[in-house]
Amino acid sequence: AIPVLTIDGPSGSGKGTISRAVAGRLGWHYLDSGALYRAIGVAAGWADLDLADPAALVRCAFDTEIGFREADGEPRVIVNGVDATDELRTETAGAAASAIAAIPEVRFALKERQRAFRRAPGLVADGRDMGTVIFPDAGRKVFLTASAEERAERRYKQLKDKGVSVTLDGLLREILARDARDASRAVAPLRPADDAVRIDTTGLGIETVVDRVLALMEP
Ligand code: C5P
Repeated sequence: AIPVLTIDGPSGSGKGTISRAVAGRLGWHYLDSGALYRAIGVAAGWADLDLADPAALVRCAFDTEIGFREADGEPRVIVNGVDATDELRTETAGAAASAIAAIPEVRFALKERQRAFRRAPGLVADGRDMGTVIFPDAGRKVFLTASAEERAERRYKQLKDKGVSVTLDGLLREILARDARDASRAVAPLRPADDAVRIDTTGLGIETVVDRVLALMEP
């Protein structure tokens, strides 16, 4: 079977940065499953869909075209032909993703779409339920955590660099609210797989975490 490394954890745990770097070092494909949920959430907003209408959202999950590109070394996400990278990063898109992600039919609709990313020579899958639901048979599983304060600070720096005006306090509140929703929802609540290796990234630099994950990949 084509090898899979799953990297799950809450928002701001460093999943995206670490997963991308590890995929680069291994020369493996990379699945940003959060971007799929964000893209569907944003596309549903563009189409003015009712978040209480699962059938419409499922159609949206199947029909929305989502493409991943690189431009000047930066990953871009194209949604229905439009470069939506900046919009996808906003906390509004995160909240929309979290809302539609709580609908079982939407999660089911995205299952095969996510599994299709498993291509040779290997896949690094980043998300919330990669190790528990989408790739339960993955050979290596990591669960990243970090304190809420540190996660809010990382988001704050990311957004400030992008020129987005936010407050650290507001971000911390939003992160705690999204964590609570992600952890308490009935479908695929955020939890580590039984066979996941947990890494607390609080106070650790990117390279340190990347090296720890790569060390797990040695036979
Ligand atoms: O990881 P990211 O912050 O981009 O994810 C946005 C939201 O999408 C999460 O808060 C979560 O509700 C949802 N999500 C999910 N399952 C995944 C990835 C993301 O439910 N595998």
